[in-house]
Order: sequence, then C-alpha cells, then structure tokens
Amino acid sequence: MAPQQARQAQQTIHVDGEWREAASGAAREILDPADATPITLVAEGDERDADAAVAAARRAFDEGPWPRTPAAERAALLQRVAALLLRDREELGLLESRDTGKTLEEGRIDIDCVADAFRYFAALVAAESAGRVVDAGSPDVHSVVVQEPVGVCALITPWNYPLLQASWKIAPALAAGNTFVVKPSEITPLTTIALIELLAEAGLPAGVAGIVTGPGHSVGARLAEHPDVDLVSFTGGLVSGTKVAQAAAVGVKKVALELGGKNPNVVFADACATEEGFDTAVDQALNAAFIHSGQVCSAGARLIVEESLRERFVAELARRASLIRLGRGTEKGVECGPLVSARQRERTEEYVAAALAEGAVLRCGGKRPQPSATRPASGYFYEPTVLDQCHRQMKVVREEVFGPVLTVETFRTEDEAVALANDTEYGLAGAVWTADAGRARRVAGRLRHGTVWINDFHPYLPQAEWGGFGKSGVGRELGPAGLAEYREAKHIYQNLAPKPVRWFAG
Ligand code: NAD
Repeated sequence: MAPQQARQAQQTIHVDGEWREAASGAAREILDPADATPITLVAEGDERDADAAVAAARRAFDEGPWPRTPAAERAALLQRVAALLLRDREELGLLESRDTGKTLEEGRIDIDCVADAFRYFAALVAAESAGRVVDAGSPDVHSVVVQEPVGVCALITPWNYPLLQASWKIAPALAAGNTFVVKPSEITPLTTIALIELLAEAGLPAGVAGIVTGPGHSVGARLAEHPDVDLVSFTGGLVSGTKVAQAAAVGVKKVALELGGKNPNVVFADACATEEGFDTAVDQALNAAFIHSGQVCSAGARLIVEESLRERFVAELARRASLIRLGRGTEKGVECGPLVSARQRERTEEYVAAALAEGAVLRCGGKRPQPSATRPASGYFYEPTVLDQCHRQMKVVREEVFGPVLTVETFRTEDEAVALANDTEYGLAGAVWTADAGRARRVAGRLRHGTVWINDFHPYLPQAEWGGFGKSGVGRELGPAGLAEYREAKHIYQNLAPKPVRWFAG
C-alpha cells in the first residue's frame, strides 16, 4: 500500500505521490451554490503545475510498475477502489451535493454509479485474454494482436457530474495500464481530489495518478498541448472541446470528446391513450428536463409532442413543474437544487429572455424563486421553466442552455417528428414515447443520437457505450469501446521459419 501523506486543505495538487500547493501559491475559494458561501480553498494551479504532474506521470509510465502490472492485479485494485468509494459513500455524496448544488440523494446515487464504473472496468479487463491470434495463412507464422496502454492520459472534466465523469475516464485509463493527470472543473474539484486519495489508499503506485486543480485556460490548455501527453479525454462544452481538439491535433494525440447535447424527447399521442400512459410520459418528461436543474448533458430539453396532445400534455407538465420543490440540496424534501454558479444562472436568464423576445410563450417559471428558509437569497436558484410555441430557428431550441428550461415544439406525422428530433448539430441522446412497438423501433432506428430511449429517459448502463453523434463528441465512454479508447493495438508478427525473400537479385 502506498504511504499516505496528510493533506493540508490547500494542497490539492498531487504529483508523484505527494500533495502540494500551486507553484504560484495561488488558491481559489470553492463556493456552495445554495448560498454562495465558501466551502474550502483549493490550489489554483497553472502551467507549471501541469508540467510537473505530466513529468511524474511520464516517469511512472516509462519506468514504473503499473503498465507492466498483470491485468488481474489491476482489476483487483479497481475493485478495492469501488469498495472504498462505497465505504465513503455518505461523505462523498454530501461533498458532491455541496459542491454542485445537486440533492444529497443524487449525490449518493452518483457515488454508486462511480463505484459501478470501477467494478465494470475491473471485470472487463479481468475477463480478457492476452491477445488475439490472427490467422496469417501460414503454419510458419504466429501473428497476434495485443492491446497496450496508450501512455500518459490527460483527463479534463466538467462540473455537473464531477466524480462520475472523472470515473468514466480514470477507471478505464487505469484498467488499461495507463498513467494520468486529471483536471477537474475549477468550480467543483472536491470529490475528484478525494478519489485521488482513495486510489493511493487502494495501493496505486506513486506517480500513476496525478491531479492538478486550476482553470481550463491554463492547466487544461497546457495538458491538451503537452508533448509528453499521449491521449486527451475531455468532457465539457463545445467551445472548450474544440480548443482541446485543436491543441491535441498539433501533437497528433489521441482525443476523445464528450460534449454537449440538445436532446429531443418525442412524445406520440398513442403513448398517452390511457391515464397511466399519460401520467408516465408527463412524469418522465419532467424528469428528463429538470433533474439536477437541467444541468445534464443528456437532459431532455426539447419536448417534441404530437400536435393533438400538446395542450393537455403541456398544461399538466407546467402544473407539475411549478410544484418542484427548490432548495438547498442537502435539505430533506428538496427536489431540485440551485444552479452551479451565478454565471450559469445568468446564462439561463439570457436564453429565456431571448426566447421570449423571439415569440416563445412562458407556461411556468422564467424567474428566480422567492427566497425561503431552504432557499437563501444568495443561492443561484432558478424556477423550472416551460417555453411553449417554440420553433427550430430559436436560439433556445438550437443551443444547449444547461439550465431548467424546457422548450415545446409539435409535429403531425412520424416523418416530421424524426426530422425535428434530428434537426440539431448535436446528437447525444433522445427518446421516443409510443405504444406502437413498430413505430418505436422505426423511429429509434432513424434518430441520429448516441443513446436512444424508448418509453424511458436518462438511464445508462456501464456496459453500454455512451457518446454522441455530430458535435456531441468524438469516441465513446463506457462499454468495451470506452476501454479501447485508452489502448493502442499492436500487431506482433513472428516468422517461425525465416528464409531470404530474394526480391533483390544481387
Ligand atoms: P467547460 O467546457 O466549460 O469545461 C469543461 C472542462 O474543460 C473544465 O475542467 C474546464 O476547466 C476545462 N477547460 C475549459 N477551457 C479549456 C481549454 N481551453 N483547454 C482545456 N480545458 C479547458 O464545460 P462545463 O461548463 O464544465 O460543463 C458543461 C458542459 O459539459 C456542457 O456542455 C455539457 O453538455 C458537457 N457535458 C457533456 C457530457 C457528455 O457525456 N457528453 C457529460 C457532462 C457534461
């Protein structure tokens, strides 16, 4: 087991098994979005810290034991990490809730999902064979394809699911035998710091796992361009993702991008033919759009509903949206927390104002709620908002708001529904609600999105790939493809009976 060093609050940069402050000495306050008060201070790293962490990860990859550790031992370590995560579930769930504003229950579920990711990748590598023997067409040749770790991975993550997104990168990176430097979002780094401590406790050799807390423009940008980094895996918005891809392209690094989404939730009238069907579809549309205040890459932010059902469906949806209990995520009975930052709430307000100016009709929300005992005036709360009469030319329909804003569009035919659902530059996820099994399969087959739900919204499975078509990204996380991202295939061709080829006569 790696020796553990007690960490001082501001020592949140981990290099070569040691916790340290930023090289510059700078620190940042991490704020509780429910009341804007500081939770703690973290190191505000810069390029120098990124360089030091990459150098340590490089040494650990080139000279350390981890890339040469048998798969079964790597898998066992990942299983130990999963057990430690579950041991600390309450503490980590609370930390995630305070850092992001999400409810405590969501925080706990996130930690379960993080543990699942570690267990899944552990099981995947443990079950693998050492290589794939290829038929070379000759008994004198032994040809095998082996999978090797890529090298040093830079892992850059967002603020909405901080530990979950980190785990979808860290678990497969470690399972494959890589070393890494992770850069969490500068506003929500706390659980990722805690995970790095757990990795050491589980016995990961020093230098394999590094973390640099700090901003994207310095730490993130340096990691993406660093010549000693072999792979960059990024989850975040389209604008930063494009910059990361450009920086990585200069060094011809492997790149994986998990970007935004503008995800359609298509509801056919036949799904609501019974009261139970109607209730389920409305309930799930609410969940699709407003869980975690809509700050979900796969949020069902575009309701595309059959014209004949529209009025009844939207009226019920708006009624229920206005009943959502907003408050501090750690308080009992609260169903939705604040937005993550003042900036995120301002962005949401700007999108709603633009939509109303473009002709959208406000059915509920559209403002900050009244402060209350569970909802301090200083918190970044915003009411769940339903905007009716929207159309695809509107900015609020085309762009990702990443707030509690649902737009409503309508269709008359199946073709029209599919065309609307695919009319986005993104392609992360989408759902279709219908009681007609044939239609469900037809529509699912035509949707250009990385995940399609039929009569459901939001579930994912660690064993199924997650990622996007179009500008929702490049590559996949989770599933076998989520491990393959962190590997290089090597073909070893062995001639068992070498002879001269005599191509050249002389
Ligand atoms: P963001 O793009 O602002 O930041 C993401 C990360 O990139 C942060 O760590 C940030 O510091 C860093 N960063 C910013 N500029 C950078 C640069 N030039 N070079 C390197 N790193 C840089 O995104 P966010 O606001 O933190 O997260 C919200 C976005 O994440 C949304 O668009 C959401 O859809 C997306 N997201 C996608 C998925 C998915 O699975 N597809 C999951 C979660 C979030």
